[in-house]
Amino acid sequence: MSIISIHQAIDLLKKGEPVALPTETVYGLAAPINNLKAIEKIFEIKKRPLNDPLIVHVTNLDMAETLISKASIDFEKLCKKFWPGPLTLVTEKNKTLVDDLLTSNGSTVALRSPKSNLFLKAIDAVGPLAAPSANLFKKVSPSKAEHIIASLPGVCVVDGGACEVGIESTILDVDRLKILRPGMITISDIANTLGKTILNQETELSNIPGAEKDHYQPTTKVIVYSSKDKLEEFLKGRSHTGLDLGKDPRACAKSLYSNLREQDQKADFISIKWSPEYNLENWLGIKNRIEKASSYWMD
Ligand code: AMP
Ligand code: MG
Repeated sequence: MSIISIHQAIDLLKKGEPVALPTETVYGLAAPINNLKAIEKIFEIKKRPLNDPLIVHVTNLDMAETLISKASIDFEKLCKKFWPGPLTLVTEKNKTLVDDLLTSNGSTVALRSPKSNLFLKAIDAVGPLAAPSANLFKKVSPSKAEHIIASLPGVCVVDGGACEVGIESTILDVDRLKILRPGMITISDIANTLGKTILNQETELSNIPGAEKDHYQPTTKVIVYSSKDKLEEFLKGRSHTGLDLGKDPRACAKSLYSNLREQDQKADFISIKWSPEYNLENWLGIKNRIEKASSYWMD
Protein backbone atom coordinates (compact mmCIF):
# COMPACT_ATOMS: atom_id res chain seq x y z
CA MET A 1 0.00 0.00 0.00
CA SER A 2 1.62 3.24 -1.00
CA ILE A 3 -0.92 5.83 0.19
CA ILE A 4 0.65 7.82 3.03
CA SER A 5 -0.29 10.78 5.23
CA ILE A 6 1.20 14.24 4.72
CA HIS A 7 3.17 13.74 7.98
CA GLN A 8 4.72 10.52 6.66
CA ALA A 9 5.43 12.31 3.37
CA ILE A 10 7.26 15.12 5.18
CA ASP A 11 9.36 12.54 7.08
CA LEU A 12 10.30 10.81 3.80
CA LEU A 13 11.14 14.15 2.13
CA LYS A 14 13.41 15.01 5.07
CA LYS A 15 15.17 11.67 4.57
CA GLY A 16 15.68 12.43 0.86
CA GLU A 17 12.96 10.14 -0.53
CA PRO A 18 10.84 11.63 -3.33
CA VAL A 19 7.08 11.36 -2.71
CA ALA A 20 4.06 12.09 -4.89
CA LEU A 21 1.94 15.02 -3.72
CA PRO A 22 -1.29 16.48 -5.08
CA THR A 23 -1.41 19.89 -6.73
CA GLU A 24 -4.34 21.53 -8.47
CA THR A 25 -2.79 20.77 -11.90
CA VAL A 26 -1.52 17.15 -11.73
CA TYR A 27 0.24 15.08 -9.02
CA GLY A 28 3.93 15.98 -8.66
CA LEU A 29 6.90 13.79 -7.70
CA ALA A 30 8.50 16.04 -5.10
CA ALA A 31 11.95 16.36 -3.53
CA PRO A 32 13.69 19.20 -1.65
CA ILE A 33 15.84 21.37 -3.92
CA ASN A 34 18.65 21.41 -1.35
CA ASN A 35 19.06 17.61 -1.51
CA LEU A 36 20.64 16.81 -4.87
CA LYS A 37 20.66 13.05 -4.25
CA ALA A 38 16.87 13.21 -3.84
CA ILE A 39 16.58 15.32 -7.01
CA GLU A 40 18.65 12.72 -8.90
CA LYS A 41 16.18 10.07 -7.72
CA ILE A 42 13.32 12.02 -9.36
CA PHE A 43 15.05 11.76 -12.74
CA GLU A 44 15.76 8.04 -12.17
CA ILE A 45 12.21 7.14 -11.06
CA LYS A 46 10.63 9.00 -14.00
CA LYS A 47 13.32 7.88 -16.49
CA ARG A 48 13.49 11.57 -17.35
CA PRO A 49 16.54 12.84 -19.26
CA LEU A 50 18.70 15.29 -17.32
CA ASN A 51 18.28 17.94 -20.03
CA ASP A 52 14.58 18.39 -19.09
CA PRO A 53 14.53 21.02 -16.30
CA LEU A 54 12.26 20.79 -13.23
CA ILE A 55 9.70 23.27 -11.88
CA VAL A 56 10.48 24.50 -8.35
CA HIS A 57 7.48 24.93 -6.06
CA VAL A 58 7.35 27.69 -3.45
CA THR A 59 4.75 28.97 -0.98
CA ASN A 60 4.74 32.60 -2.13
CA LEU A 61 6.49 35.55 -3.76
CA ASP A 62 8.85 36.01 -0.77
CA MET A 63 10.19 32.48 -1.12
CA ALA A 64 10.38 32.84 -4.91
CA GLU A 65 12.50 35.99 -4.53
CA THR A 66 15.19 34.05 -2.66
CA LEU A 67 15.62 31.72 -5.67
CA ILE A 68 15.80 34.28 -8.50
CA SER A 69 18.18 37.04 -9.37
CA LYS A 70 15.54 39.80 -9.20
CA ALA A 71 11.74 39.90 -9.26
CA SER A 72 10.65 42.26 -12.04
CA ILE A 73 7.47 44.32 -11.73
CA ASP A 74 5.79 41.87 -14.14
CA PHE A 75 6.91 38.91 -12.04
CA GLU A 76 5.44 40.50 -8.90
CA LYS A 77 2.17 41.44 -10.60
CA LEU A 78 1.66 37.91 -11.94
CA CYS A 79 2.46 36.29 -8.58
CA LYS A 80 0.02 38.55 -6.80
CA LYS A 81 -2.71 37.83 -9.32
CA PHE A 82 -2.31 34.09 -9.98
CA TRP A 83 -0.44 32.47 -7.05
CA PRO A 84 -1.18 30.04 -5.62
CA GLY A 85 -2.35 28.77 -8.98
CA PRO A 86 -1.51 27.08 -12.29
CA LEU A 87 1.02 29.64 -13.62
CA THR A 88 4.76 28.86 -13.78
CA LEU A 89 7.16 31.78 -14.23
CA VAL A 90 10.61 31.40 -15.79
CA THR A 91 13.25 34.01 -14.97
CA GLU A 92 17.00 34.34 -14.22
CA LYS A 93 17.92 32.17 -11.24
CA ASN A 94 19.92 32.73 -8.07
CA LYS A 95 22.93 30.68 -9.11
CA THR A 96 23.98 29.92 -5.52
CA LEU A 97 20.71 28.43 -4.32
CA VAL A 98 19.40 26.79 -7.50
CA ASP A 99 21.67 23.99 -8.67
CA ASP A 100 22.33 23.34 -12.38
CA LEU A 101 20.83 19.86 -11.94
CA LEU A 102 17.40 21.46 -11.46
CA THR A 103 17.70 23.78 -14.44
CA SER A 104 19.57 21.48 -16.85
CA ASN A 105 22.57 23.83 -16.72
CA GLY A 106 20.45 26.79 -17.83
CA SER A 107 20.63 30.25 -16.22
CA THR A 108 16.86 30.42 -15.59
CA VAL A 109 14.55 28.69 -13.12
CA ALA A 110 10.83 27.86 -13.45
CA LEU A 111 8.82 28.69 -10.30
CA ARG A 112 5.26 28.10 -9.18
CA SER A 113 3.14 28.21 -6.04
CA PRO A 114 0.63 25.34 -6.14
CA LYS A 115 -2.94 25.71 -4.88
CA SER A 116 -2.92 22.68 -2.58
CA ASN A 117 -2.81 22.96 1.20
CA LEU A 118 -1.10 19.56 1.43
CA PHE A 119 1.66 20.59 -0.96
CA LEU A 120 2.10 24.00 0.72
CA LYS A 121 2.35 22.25 4.10
CA ALA A 122 5.19 20.11 2.74
CA ILE A 123 7.04 23.20 1.46
CA ASP A 124 6.56 24.89 4.86
CA ALA A 125 8.18 21.87 6.51
CA VAL A 126 11.11 21.19 4.15
CA GLY A 127 11.58 24.27 1.95
CA PRO A 128 11.19 24.66 -1.83
CA LEU A 129 10.33 21.42 -3.63
CA ALA A 130 11.14 20.45 -7.21
CA ALA A 131 8.25 18.45 -8.59
CA PRO A 132 7.71 17.29 -12.15
CA SER A 133 4.55 15.34 -12.88
CA ALA A 134 4.56 11.93 -11.14
CA ASN A 135 4.54 9.79 -14.29
CA LEU A 136 7.06 8.01 -16.47
CA PHE A 137 8.68 10.36 -18.99
CA LYS A 138 6.41 10.95 -22.03
CA LYS A 139 3.47 9.07 -20.51
CA VAL A 140 0.09 10.48 -19.47
CA SER A 141 0.33 12.68 -16.33
CA PRO A 142 -1.50 11.57 -13.15
CA SER A 143 -4.57 13.53 -12.01
CA LYS A 144 -5.58 10.99 -9.31
CA ALA A 145 -3.55 9.09 -6.69
CA GLU A 146 -4.58 5.75 -8.25
CA HIS A 147 -2.82 6.73 -11.50
CA ILE A 148 0.52 6.80 -9.65
CA ILE A 149 -0.14 3.53 -7.86
CA ALA A 150 -0.80 1.96 -11.27
CA SER A 151 2.24 3.35 -13.08
CA LEU A 152 4.91 4.07 -10.42
CA PRO A 153 4.24 1.31 -7.87
CA GLY A 154 7.36 2.02 -5.79
CA VAL A 155 6.36 5.62 -5.07
CA CYS A 156 4.44 6.70 -1.93
CA VAL A 157 1.52 9.07 -2.58
CA VAL A 158 -0.48 11.53 -0.50
CA ASP A 159 -4.06 11.24 -1.78
CA GLY A 160 -5.63 14.65 -2.28
CA GLY A 161 -8.45 13.46 -4.55
CA ALA A 162 -8.86 14.36 -8.22
CA CYS A 163 -6.83 17.42 -9.30
CA GLU A 164 -9.10 20.42 -9.85
CA VAL A 165 -7.41 21.80 -13.00
CA GLY A 166 -6.27 18.45 -14.42
CA ILE A 167 -3.58 19.55 -16.91
CA GLU A 168 -0.13 21.04 -16.28
CA SER A 169 0.46 24.74 -15.54
CA THR A 170 0.82 27.51 -18.10
CA ILE A 171 4.55 28.35 -18.37
CA LEU A 172 5.57 31.95 -19.11
CA ASP A 173 9.07 33.25 -19.77
CA VAL A 174 8.43 36.40 -17.76
CA ASP A 175 11.50 38.29 -19.02
CA ARG A 176 10.58 37.83 -22.69
CA LEU A 177 6.80 37.65 -22.14
CA LYS A 178 6.55 34.43 -24.14
CA ILE A 179 4.31 31.46 -23.39
CA LEU A 180 6.45 28.30 -23.26
CA ARG A 181 3.55 25.94 -22.53
CA PRO A 182 -0.16 26.83 -22.71
CA GLY A 183 -2.45 25.91 -19.83
CA MET A 184 -5.75 26.91 -18.27
CA ILE A 185 -4.46 30.41 -17.41
CA THR A 186 -4.70 31.94 -20.87
CA ILE A 187 -2.60 34.42 -22.83
CA SER A 188 -5.39 37.00 -22.40
CA ASP A 189 -5.46 36.43 -18.61
CA ILE A 190 -1.74 37.30 -18.51
CA ALA A 191 -1.91 40.12 -21.08
CA ASN A 192 -4.82 41.77 -19.23
CA THR A 193 -2.99 41.57 -15.90
CA LEU A 194 0.17 43.20 -17.28
CA GLY A 195 -1.41 45.47 -19.90
CA LYS A 196 1.18 44.09 -22.36
CA THR A 197 1.28 41.86 -25.42
CA ILE A 198 2.18 38.22 -24.72
CA LEU A 199 3.79 36.10 -27.42
CA ASN A 200 2.80 32.49 -27.91
CA GLN A 201 6.01 30.79 -28.97
CA GLU A 202 5.02 27.36 -27.73
CA THR A 203 4.58 25.99 -31.22
CA GLU A 204 8.11 27.01 -32.21
CA LEU A 205 9.67 25.47 -29.15
CA SER A 206 9.83 21.87 -30.23
CA ASN A 207 13.58 21.95 -29.53
CA ILE A 208 13.01 22.90 -25.88
CA PRO A 209 13.36 19.89 -23.55
CA GLY A 210 9.97 18.75 -22.33
CA ALA A 211 8.21 20.25 -25.36
CA GLU A 212 8.58 17.17 -27.55
CA LYS A 213 5.76 16.18 -29.86
CA ASP A 214 5.19 12.71 -28.40
CA HIS A 215 4.42 13.60 -24.78
CA TYR A 216 1.39 12.48 -22.75
CA GLN A 217 0.86 9.40 -24.91
CA PRO A 218 -1.31 6.45 -23.87
CA THR A 219 -0.34 3.01 -25.23
CA THR A 220 -3.29 2.97 -27.63
CA LYS A 221 -2.81 5.42 -30.49
CA VAL A 222 -5.01 8.53 -30.43
CA ILE A 223 -6.63 9.78 -33.63
CA VAL A 224 -8.23 13.23 -33.93
CA TYR A 225 -10.84 13.69 -36.67
CA SER A 226 -13.38 16.23 -37.93
CA SER A 227 -15.33 14.11 -40.38
CA LYS A 228 -16.87 10.76 -39.48
CA ASP A 229 -16.41 9.56 -43.08
CA LYS A 230 -12.67 10.21 -42.98
CA LEU A 231 -12.45 8.41 -39.65
CA GLU A 232 -14.25 5.31 -41.02
CA GLU A 233 -12.00 5.39 -44.09
CA PHE A 234 -8.93 5.48 -41.85
CA LEU A 235 -10.14 2.75 -39.50
CA LYS A 236 -10.97 0.25 -42.25
CA GLY A 237 -13.03 -1.77 -39.80
CA ARG A 238 -10.57 -1.53 -36.90
CA SER A 239 -12.15 -0.73 -33.51
CA HIS A 240 -12.10 2.60 -31.70
CA THR A 241 -13.35 4.11 -28.46
CA GLY A 242 -14.52 7.74 -28.58
CA LEU A 243 -13.33 10.37 -26.09
CA ASP A 244 -15.83 13.25 -25.99
CA LEU A 245 -14.23 16.62 -25.12
CA GLY A 246 -17.63 18.23 -24.36
CA LYS A 247 -18.38 21.94 -24.32
CA ASP A 248 -16.70 23.19 -21.14
CA PRO A 249 -12.88 23.51 -21.24
CA ARG A 250 -12.55 23.40 -17.44
CA ALA A 251 -14.53 20.18 -17.11
CA CYS A 252 -12.65 18.76 -20.10
CA ALA A 253 -9.20 19.53 -18.63
CA LYS A 254 -10.18 18.08 -15.26
CA SER A 255 -11.07 14.68 -16.70
CA LEU A 256 -8.78 14.55 -19.77
CA TYR A 257 -5.96 12.42 -18.34
CA SER A 258 -8.37 10.12 -16.44
CA ASN A 259 -10.31 9.57 -19.64
CA LEU A 260 -7.17 8.85 -21.67
CA ARG A 261 -6.08 6.31 -19.06
CA GLU A 262 -9.51 4.69 -18.78
CA GLN A 263 -9.80 4.30 -22.53
CA ASP A 264 -6.26 3.00 -22.99
CA GLN A 265 -5.98 -0.55 -24.36
CA LYS A 266 -9.75 -0.93 -24.80
CA ALA A 267 -9.77 -0.80 -28.63
CA ASP A 268 -7.42 -0.39 -31.60
CA PHE A 269 -7.63 3.43 -31.40
CA ILE A 270 -8.89 6.22 -29.13
CA SER A 271 -10.80 8.67 -31.34
CA ILE A 272 -11.40 12.34 -30.53
CA LYS A 273 -13.86 14.41 -32.57
CA TRP A 274 -12.49 17.91 -33.18
CA SER A 275 -14.89 20.91 -33.32
CA PRO A 276 -13.95 24.43 -34.50
CA GLU A 277 -14.68 25.82 -31.00
CA TYR A 278 -11.72 23.81 -29.65
CA ASN A 279 -9.44 26.22 -31.55
CA LEU A 280 -10.55 29.10 -29.28
CA GLU A 281 -8.08 30.52 -26.79
CA ASN A 282 -9.56 28.95 -23.66
CA TRP A 283 -9.02 25.48 -25.19
CA LEU A 284 -5.36 26.10 -26.11
CA GLY A 285 -3.88 24.13 -23.19
CA ILE A 286 -6.13 21.15 -23.94
CA LYS A 287 -5.37 21.37 -27.67
CA ASN A 288 -1.64 21.33 -26.92
CA ARG A 289 -1.92 18.17 -24.77
CA ILE A 290 -4.08 16.43 -27.39
CA GLU A 291 -1.63 17.34 -30.17
CA LYS A 292 1.12 15.69 -28.16
CA ALA A 293 -0.96 12.67 -27.13
CA SER A 294 -2.19 11.99 -30.66
CA SER A 295 -0.54 10.01 -33.45
CA TYR A 296 -2.93 11.06 -36.23
CA TRP A 297 -4.72 14.39 -36.80
CA MET A 298 -7.17 14.47 -39.70
CA ASP A 299 -8.70 17.92 -40.40
P1 AMP B 1 6.63 19.24 -15.73
O1 AMP B 1 7.21 18.00 -16.31
O2 AMP B 1 5.15 19.38 -15.89
O3 AMP B 1 7.08 19.53 -14.35
O4 AMP B 1 7.15 20.47 -16.58
C1 AMP B 1 8.47 20.80 -16.62
C2 AMP B 1 8.65 21.59 -17.88
O5 AMP B 1 8.85 22.95 -17.55
C3 AMP B 1 9.92 21.20 -18.60
O6 AMP B 1 9.69 20.08 -19.41
C4 AMP B 1 10.24 22.45 -19.41
O7 AMP B 1 9.53 22.43 -20.64
C5 AMP B 1 9.69 23.55 -18.53
N1 AMP B 1 10.77 24.23 -17.80
C6 AMP B 1 11.25 23.95 -16.57
N2 AMP B 1 12.26 24.77 -16.26
C7 AMP B 1 12.43 25.59 -17.30
C8 AMP B 1 13.32 26.64 -17.58
N3 AMP B 1 14.25 27.04 -16.72
N4 AMP B 1 13.21 27.25 -18.79
C9 AMP B 1 12.26 26.88 -19.67
N5 AMP B 1 11.38 25.88 -19.46
C10 AMP B 1 11.46 25.24 -18.28
MG1 MG C 1 5.54 16.24 -16.98
